[in-house]
Amino acid sequence: MLIVQKYGGTSVANIERIKKVAERVIKYKREGHDLVVVVSAMAGETDRLINLAKEITPTPPLRELDLLVSTGEQVTSSLLAITLQSMGFDAVAFLGYQIPIYTTNLFTKAKIKDIRVDKLKKELNQGKIVVVAGFQGVTEEGDITTLGRGGSDTTAVALAAALKADLCEIYTDVEGVYTADPRIVSNARKLKKISYEEMLEMASSGAKVLEMRSVELAMIYKVNLVVKSSFTEAEGTLITEEDEEMEKVVVSGITYSRNEARISIYGVPDKPGIAAQIFGPIGEKGIIVDMIIQTVHPDNKADITFTVPRTDYTQALEIVKEVAKKLKAERVEGDDKIAKVSIVGAGMRTHSGVATKMFETLAKHGINIMMISTSEIKISCVIDEKYTELAVRTLHEAFQLDQEHIKEEKTPKKRPKKTK
Ligand code: ADP
Ligand code: ASP
Ligand code: MG
Repeated sequence: MLIVQKYGGTSVANIERIKKVAERVIKYKREGHDLVVVVSAMAGETDRLINLAKEITPTPPLRELDLLVSTGEQVTSSLLAITLQSMGFDAVAFLGYQIPIYTTNLFTKAKIKDIRVDKLKKELNQGKIVVVAGFQGVTEEGDITTLGRGGSDTTAVALAAALKADLCEIYTDVEGVYTADPRIVSNARKLKKISYEEMLEMASSGAKVLEMRSVELAMIYKVNLVVKSSFTEAEGTLITEEDEEMEKVVVSGITYSRNEARISIYGVPDKPGIAAQIFGPIGEKGIIVDMIIQTVHPDNKADITFTVPRTDYTQALEIVKEVAKKLKAERVEGDDKIAKVSIVGAGMRTHSGVATKMFETLAKHGINIMMISTSEIKISCVIDEKYTELAVRTLHEAFQLDQEHIKEEKTPKKRPKKTK
């Protein structure tokens, strides 16, 4: 088989752990597999580098910031290749630009456009273990870019798709995808498998065990994706097509995200084109707007409230203040002490009462809901950040996720719209 393996920051945190990674890679190599190994920077390194730049200025130029943070993966990829060679195995390490992995030029959140796999295939054909620095790419102009936090997952899945690998394994510091973050919910259960769609909703709503874009790519290119531990031999979680069994499970997981901020713009004219004028400039900066609520007043004025990632809050607030002046809005307000809790499950499509149960559970614990959004298989609530852990734990308990799910009959057979 051709296997792409990705090892996260904790798995390559020091030389001892890099040796353990090398041993695992060699085990697979000895079994006769071809291997492409993607590595993250050592745990904490990306944060350290960002903070160095922020000691100089709170808003470092993004092109140079990418040049800086991409060095974390340069260190671990070369160290792993050196380790493999010292253990007697032929290995070669590549940075993103050497492959090349072409991306857009949106620094710090670039998207992969194209991967040239010829060089990698040549090395694999010569029997070498190929090591690739995760998280990074290059623009057509030759500028180094990075793919956004957690982006090594995306490097791995994109390589697996481009190389048509048989399997993509994401090795991390937990044994798979759980019903909730096992660091917050002690009795969270490891899922044997989960559908691409559910995983995508979990990733997009905060379960950082897989980066969202990596799941999106896996779904599009049907990559066989497994999340497992680099510290144990336990079987991980398979991310795959939805099957009947999965559909019967109403709620598969609870997620949370503290990377949230809210911006409100009050008293804008209620007429066509206003929303486009507000959200256009935000989108141009690659900032993703998540929830949007609009309230219209009798005086033909509207208030618009929306959420953005907290990491983009300052930039988004500046943009909105500019737009507000142009639109003669009454005022702009923001709050970055909010969090989002979500429940995700394919079975929500065919079960009613799920939203009510979520709202009641939060209410019972005195947690106020500021915003709500739903998709076919997800319900999210924005709450005060200080209640995040309480919300996750009580929802996990309310939906009995610590127990193997009771396999209910689907009711009703037809898929009703919006009956959550
Ligand atoms: P890596 O450095 O290997 O990429 P990450 O820190 O990005 O690792 O992701 C793994 C972490 O994701 C776990 O340590 C865990 O705390 C967190 N996590 C959040 N939600 C979940 C979940 N539902 N299942 C498993 N892990 C989760
Ligand atoms: N090192 C990068 C980060 O910390 C990418 C990754 O680990 O996936 O976000
Ligand atoms: Mg990660």
